[in-house]
Amino acid sequence: MTRMSGFGETIFAEMTRLADQAGAINLGQGFPDTDGPRSLLEGAARYVREGGNQYPPGQGRAELRAAVAADRAQRYGLAYDPDTEVYVTVGATAGIAASVLALVEPGDEVVLFEPMYDSYSAVIALAQGVRRPVTLRPSADGARYTFDPDELAAAVTPRTRMIIVNTPHNPTGTVFTEEELALIAQLCRENDVIALTDEVYEHLTFDGVAHLPLAALPGMAERTLSVSSAGKTFSVTGWKIGWVMGPEPLVRAVRTVNQFLTYTANGAQQLAVADALRGELDWVRAHRDALQAKRDRLAAGLAAAGFAVGRTQGSYFVMADIRPLGHDDGVAFVRSLVHQAGVAAVPAQVFYADQNEGRHLVRFAFCKRDEVLDEAAARLRAWG
Ligand code: PMP
Ligand code: GLN
Repeated sequence: MTRMSGFGETIFAEMTRLADQAGAINLGQGFPDTDGPRSLLEGAARYVREGGNQYPPGQGRAELRAAVAADRAQRYGLAYDPDTEVYVTVGATAGIAASVLALVEPGDEVVLFEPMYDSYSAVIALAQGVRRPVTLRPSADGARYTFDPDELAAAVTPRTRMIIVNTPHNPTGTVFTEEELALIAQLCRENDVIALTDEVYEHLTFDGVAHLPLAALPGMAERTLSVSSAGKTFSVTGWKIGWVMGPEPLVRAVRTVNQFLTYTANGAQQLAVADALRGELDWVRAHRDALQAKRDRLAAGLAAAGFAVGRTQGSYFVMADIRPLGHDDGVAFVRSLVHQAGVAAVPAQVFYADQNEGRHLVRFAFCKRDEVLDEAAARLRAWG
């Protein structure tokens, strides 16, 4: 047994590889098939030409840290010192990893909601922490996934060091409400627990539902590390520019770890992202509205193909129930789907600690061009 026993190739890499091999439409791994705003792309090229090619400072370019702090203050009223409370990482992934490695000691418990993004379990295992999953289930009206407050309270013990909160949530598309966040905040305060929030889809919420950062709740700014990144906001997932925000002692702990993981992140792209955070939020709003229409387009296509489709409030993803099609094993289902229908998806099982949960659910990404979504829907209808 090693700390990484049981962790093989990530499901996202596997599905993209299978999709490429089979020539399938890839609605598995969540990345858009059109790039972000022109000014951002050209800005990065310009900064490269102008010589932004050597190591940036370890904590990230001052321009980006200032832009992140200003954006966070303007949109959520959260005040961060850009010099000591904002730290740039290689995507949200590195920010999450460094946060967990910095703060979770062997045997510490980490509460998190499942289905959960795959990197959380892996970095908790690297830190030799113990996962305490709380399962999100469809609400009474079936409109969204939520948690049982008693189950959450029961998961918090004297050994709990951290709670990880991902909102908007991958893969269910739930955006946590103020009431849900208030319950989490109360448990954090009462039990002296650190919150780590993954807000990479913070801009991508639909139907007027607003994202609320946990750090904005009373008593939470001083105990929350908030993580976000440029990948989803500006449709540049391959750039891997992310940031961690929080109180100075926690950010210092993250920095101590990360200086030995990656030391710093791509320099020229940081400058371009700083400009985009200041100048391209209209583009982001238009992108969000376009994504909402894509959500509806893919949901309609999946429904026409016979799936029971969940309702997504934010993120890139819809969850679809395969039982109406006569299937109940998502892993087997997506393996045949990629070859037989030519469409790749991700089985929800991989997001659960107990792989019997979510067996009947499959995640599809809708962050694709309309003609790609239409072709996928047509293939699924023809196959189903
Ligand atoms: N968290 C969640 C919930 C994600 O879906 C993803 C993948 N896009 C990440 C983190 C990783 O973000 P990044 O590419 O910035 O590392
Ligand atoms: N976040 C993306 C998803 O959920 C994948 C990123 C990755 O491949 N690690 O599909």
